[in-house]
Amino acid sequence: MAEQNKLEKIVALCKRRGFVFPGSEIYGGLASTYDYGPLGVELKNNIKRAWWKYFIQDRTDMTGIDGGIILSPKLWEASGHVANFKDPLVECKKCHHRFRPDKLADPSKCPDCGGEFTEVKMFSGLFKTTIGAIEEEGLTTYLRPETAGAIFANYKNVLDSTNFKIPFGIGQIGKAFRNEVTTGNFIFRTLEFEQAEIEYFIAPDADWDSIFEQWVEYIYGFAELIGLPKKQFFNHEIPDAERAFYSKRTIDIEYQFPFGQEELWAIAYRTDYDLSHHQAASGTNLEYFDDVTGKRFLPHVIEPTFGVDRTLLAIISQAYDDSDSERTVLRLSPNLAPYKAAVFPLLKNKPELVAKARGVYQDLKKHFNIVWDERGNIGKRYFSQDEIGTPYCITVDFETLENDTVTIRDRDTMKQERIAISELQAYIQKSLE
Ligand SMILES: [Zn+2]
Repeated sequence: MAEQNKLEKIVALCKRRGFVFPGSEIYGGLASTYDYGPLGVELKNNIKRAWWKYFIQDRTDMTGIDGGIILSPKLWEASGHVANFKDPLVECKKCHHRFRPDKLADPSKCPDCGGEFTEVKMFSGLFKTTIGAIEEEGLTTYLRPETAGAIFANYKNVLDSTNFKIPFGIGQIGKAFRNEVTTGNFIFRTLEFEQAEIEYFIAPDADWDSIFEQWVEYIYGFAELIGLPKKQFFNHEIPDAERAFYSKRTIDIEYQFPFGQEELWAIAYRTDYDLSHHQAASGTNLEYFDDVTGKRFLPHVIEPTFGVDRTLLAIISQAYDDSDSERTVLRLSPNLAPYKAAVFPLLKNKPELVAKARGVYQDLKKHFNIVWDERGNIGKRYFSQDEIGTPYCITVDFETLENDTVTIRDRDTMKQERIAISELQAYIQKSLE
């Protein structure tokens, strides 16, 4: 299984170089939780920034919010999560591990200890929490299982505080929490994860089919922007029988990960299911007034949704290249790379080289995220930067002291050229456009 081996190599690289660490490791770990390290947080922020710019700021019909993780439990009752966000599970009577019966090869005994199972029971995927100092008297609510709830809760506030007219959309990036039983494949499925979601509000009589298609196409523009090739994707049309009853069309946008083809993103036409439920449960009129036609209506929504951690995993899997036995390269697009360049003095024991290189580093650092490295020899530094995806390595040598030029080495071609220090900023900037 070469591909599973690839995932193992990626997991190892992510830990060794500070992209992703296992959660709570010094306490023996906590299953299905991970922390992003110094490089992981940069990569993830760059992905989120690219998403926000492309889906929110570049469009005239989109805006954003940042809603709370803790929302009124009434919202999750209205959305159907409290009643329906459940999995049928069996529990081992001996080791108390829980399993989805449909995922078991042998549903009669526990794969972990051979113990007997309980009857199938429904277990909620919601993380419960209590607001208030005294647990018995507190208000029980849930950590949000998706970010969309706050968008619906604020749809009217956004309309009232902005000039947007339907059709328009609200996007949001943030953490969501699911008490998943089936976890695994590194950061693919975890208890706590980050989502980027959009609710795009349209009139009930709009040509939803063509708006849906435009969104699918726009989503593929994002795939291209972040370096995920179209051939790795598969649009999985969810058939009528498997789709939520209120949804007229749903596509799971699947991606070929090293461990198989799995859902990366999705898009659904959810009709007015959400707003009508929130309107009924809250007693707040959520109708839209169209001042051109004079009509009032409850908008319908098209919902594109993205897993941020999954996107990061797809990007690293795509960028990871160890086909050259000499070096491992993360071929990240410069926009996403944690560091845009590394600066070195040719020799670390020559104070005049170090001082000059420090100057170059400090100047560039005002404009980009730049890293300093003076360990080992130049070759080792190059390979160390290749492995974390740094697009350029800049070396200050003796010639620099004479004519203010440096060598700049390209991660992908490994070619070096000599350019003036004064040109470095524009050179790096160009790679980001
Ligand atoms: Zn067991």
